[in-house]
Amino acid sequence: MSQAEIGLIGLGVMGANLALNIAEKGHRIAVFNRTVETTRKFHADSGDLKSRIVPCETIEEFVAAIRPPRPIIIMIKAGEAVDQQMEALKPYLARGDIMIDAGNANFRDTMRRFGVLKDTGLTFIGMGVSGGEEGARHGPSIMVGGTEESYARVEEVLTSIAAKYDGEPCVAWLGENGAGHFVKTIHNGIEYADMQMIAEIYGILRDGLKMTAEEIGEVFGTWNRGRLNSYLIEITEKVLKATDPLTGNPMVDMILDKAGQKGTGKWSAIEAQTMGVPATGIEAAVAARSISSMKEEREAAERILGLPPVGEFQVADKAAFITDLENALLAAKIGAYAQGFSVMAAASKEFGWNLPMPTIARIWRAGCIIRSQFLDEITSAFTKAPDAANLIVTPAFAAMVKETDGALRRIVSAAVLGGLPVPALASALGYFDSYRRGRGTANVIQAQRDFFGAHGFDRIDGADSHHGPWGSGLNG
Ligand code: NAP
Repeated sequence: MSQAEIGLIGLGVMGANLALNIAEKGHRIAVFNRTVETTRKFHADSGDLKSRIVPCETIEEFVAAIRPPRPIIIMIKAGEAVDQQMEALKPYLARGDIMIDAGNANFRDTMRRFGVLKDTGLTFIGMGVSGGEEGARHGPSIMVGGTEESYARVEEVLTSIAAKYDGEPCVAWLGENGAGHFVKTIHNGIEYADMQMIAEIYGILRDGLKMTAEEIGEVFGTWNRGRLNSYLIEITEKVLKATDPLTGNPMVDMILDKAGQKGTGKWSAIEAQTMGVPATGIEAAVAARSISSMKEEREAAERILGLPPVGEFQVADKAAFITDLENALLAAKIGAYAQGFSVMAAASKEFGWNLPMPTIARIWRAGCIIRSQFLDEITSAFTKAPDAANLIVTPAFAAMVKETDGALRRIVSAAVLGGLPVPALASALGYFDSYRRGRGTANVIQAQRDFFGAHGFDRIDGADSHHGPWGSGLNG
């Protein structure tokens, strides 16, 4: 029997679906899972694809089943488990074999793993996979980091399984070592911001306009047919219209308002801070999930402080207000994406990756959680202006910001006056207002820093005097 084209370790939710996707596209695949029973069950349940799947119960048997140089996808729990799995594989591998970590790794771990394998003759790929269970099964977006040579070995398989947008596969080699996992991390950071902004708009409709979940679902459904058309808006309509089979109430009304997080949003915010790039939308979204998890504290605070004493939420023209909400969400989304791409541009410089921004936007157009028509516009903007300092100064997006930021301002104002929390929407407005203002207020900060710490400042007239006339006696 011919050898498998590729191997996969980890038949959990993502691994099992990815393996079926690979087999369905005509490739022979060897599979292994720590718990052997899972491998047996997976193979037994694989239907028509059974003949292309080689179930293996030992690592030795697994490695022998794959054609060298062997590409081996490791799709297991991120973190230490990956290091352990790599160590267990190593004794059986030969020069040129490629271990591919496809989990949600911290890119710094990926960089470390490249370092560990250096000079061993073994190769490594850090591969971000987005799209959840459905994406893994029918077409994910795939972000690859490693050598171009190792990518060439797996390109055909990855191209065949990736999502397609207008026939173009949503997979690309993005750069050396940690590039793929870094881009996947920022993808998830943007996803956090996108989801938080949607949740804030939902909050305004629910608590401000007192609309039912079903009615709000209708609004999102309408928006999904317009410029906000995207997977996240589409599923928001669906979740808002779903009914709880136990109570008959709207499902969302029965779900506890505590959001989970696994780390990629936080990593995005940390990396942005480390590089000194503002990513306020992502930071606001991560913080909002943290506040959401403090359910008991929030309930206790509501008993002590009460809700803001603001009275009725005032809206004169409901239809116009809902149009403003749509435009506000679009403007805020532009802010979050602009920040995410700026973080990637900074990382690209810092780590020497040469990240291709139009390509990143291109492979996010389908398959991944943030897929949308909007990403096609980003692809086009970065293709026309690859060296733009920021997405929001490219001609197409500058025009969109100018068109929609008024709505964002009105919505944030209404929410603030109505006592409704909109940290992510407000962060986008603050970002636009700070970024577009040539003369800011940091002159006062510089004066303060010089006053208490003699840090010095640059002058607007270029004169050669870098300390203020504060006087030593003033300095407490
Ligand atoms: P999952 O369903 O919980 O499956 C976990 C897999 O990891 C199982 O095959 C498990 O084997 C294996 N595993 C756990 N600890 C191990 C160890 N110490 N050594 C060897 N194998 C070990 O997880 P998943 O959702 O498929 O996620 C897999 C990876 O994909 C994670 O990095 C996740 O962050 C990432 N990811 C997930 C999604 C998603 O939507 N779920 C999307 C993108 C990326 P056993 O059967 O023996 O327990």
